[in-house]
Amino acid sequence: DPRLQAISEAIRVVPHFPKPGIMFQDITTLLLDHKAFKDTVDIFVDRYRDMDISVVAGVEARGFMFGPSIALAIGAKFVPLRKPRKLPEYGTDCLEMHVGAVQPGERALVIDDLVATGGTLSAAIRLLERVGAEVVECACVIGLPENKGERRLNGKPLYILVEPR
Ligand code: IMP
Repeated sequence: DPRLQAISEAIRVVPHFPKPGIMFQDITTLLLDHKAFKDTVDIFVDRYRDMDISVVAGVEARGFMFGPSIALAIGAKFVPLRKPRKLPEYGTDCLEMHVGAVQPGERALVIDDLVATGGTLSAAIRLLERVGAEVVECACVIGLPENKGERRLNGKPLYILVEPR
């Protein structure tokens, strides 16, 4: 897809943040680039529009920046998944959502900006499945290549747009 290169280039890399050795992928610069931001949302919308998804679940905080636009465009509701602890970001294993936000049998898409270990997405899947929802797929803008093998989380497919530059 020719749009992916511009999307990748719009993501700022912040070296050694939040700690030495981490190349932090900053999607806020993608949000500043109208075309790249719209292309990102459009790619997800085109993929999920006809998949009978009734809930888009966005992971705090950067899943909140893509999820609502996708939800509106595909005719789904948006549910925020909150992180009870903010640090450390890697390996988050616990997420919370409002009671009654998702009903048994609903078909859900989980969205976040980036997947590293997959721990965060895995927690999202468990939370949604606990209330009886079916997770159709997890989607992220960025997937770290060292986790390339981890294309499935709890048996769920993972869709990513780009790898870090
Ligand atoms: P995982 O649980 O190890 O897959 O880490 C993914 C979570 O950490 C997501 O919620 C991301 O938003 C966050 N995260 C980890 N590294 C980065 C980064 O370089 N940029 C943005 N978010 C990151």
